[in-house]
Amino acid sequence: LIQLYMPLNFLGIVYREIRQALTDIERMFGLLKQHREIADAADALDLPAERRMAIEFAAVDFAYEANRSILHAVDFTVPAGHTVAVVGHSGAGKSTLSRLLYRFYDVSGGSIRINGHDLRQLTQHSLRAAIGIVPQDTVLFNDTIRYNIRYGRPDASDEEVVAAARAASLDAFIAALPEGYDTRVGERGLKLSGGEKQRVAIARALLKNPPILIFDEATSALDSATERAIQGQLELAARGRTTLIIAHRLSTVMNADSILVMDGGRIVERGTHAALLAANGAYARMWTLQQRENDATTEPPANGVVG
Ligand code: ADP
Ligand code: MG
Repeated sequence: LIQLYMPLNFLGIVYREIRQALTDIERMFGLLKQHREIADAADALDLPAERRMAIEFAAVDFAYEANRSILHAVDFTVPAGHTVAVVGHSGAGKSTLSRLLYRFYDVSGGSIRINGHDLRQLTQHSLRAAIGIVPQDTVLFNDTIRYNIRYGRPDASDEEVVAAARAASLDAFIAALPEGYDTRVGERGLKLSGGEKQRVAIARALLKNPPILIFDEATSALDSATERAIQGQLELAARGRTTLIIAHRLSTVMNADSILVMDGGRIVERGTHAALLAANGAYARMWTLQQRENDATTEPPANGVVG
């Protein structure tokens, strides 16, 4: 009886752990309430593992629910190694682009291709292995901070985990924790602030070292000094990779190869920062507005001397 019981018990533990991991992943992307299964096609192929990957959105339409379309004929490409930024007001459809690229949902019309392969013809695991994503809201696993960072690449060494933490400006924070990297975080452990969670997600994505990076307002919860410190690391990480940056603060995407301005699920403008300013349209208006906000929130020097 014991012989029979042991393996069953073991399977029970494995089952529970897998269940927990799946739940964690869904929660990580806030998908629990909107469950809709994406299944691999019967003849799905693995995305060939190459360092250079080009992304193409071709006439993409999308609706989360019938009768309410969200994206309308979205067309753009991210050539291999380029950085494309997506800006626009809240609700414009920016995060939806990142969810479709990660294939949490399938498009309702048009197609998304990576190196010419339609996402619907690829295995989900090979697609997701190629993409590092810093989602808008990160949920941590109920495990150690080391585990949470290493999740980006489970076979990474401790040194690589530390290097990723350093690149995400987390090393000083971790050093001050009661048990350092072995401190448990998440719901049943130490609760991290939004900015700390965001930096864990950044460390995870940097450690993964994928050909495609998606940053969805990846630094929105950071104070401006930390944001500046990390910004350089993100630009370094994006170099030579295909990167989609969704941003609220326009100052963080000035250097992108191309900027898409979204409104109401459509791309209403596109171009470089300089070209968009010169065009004097929606982007230029957003830019002027943000500059004004910056000026309003910049405190005068303590000694009262200006300039
Ligand atoms: P952004 O990232 O630009 O703020 P989103 O892509 O998150 O915008 O959302 C675009 C639109 O889609 C919004 O109107 C939002 O309410 C809607 N939306 C987002 N997620 C869902 C969902 N899971 N189910 C239904 N509607 C959604
Ligand atoms: Mg969003």
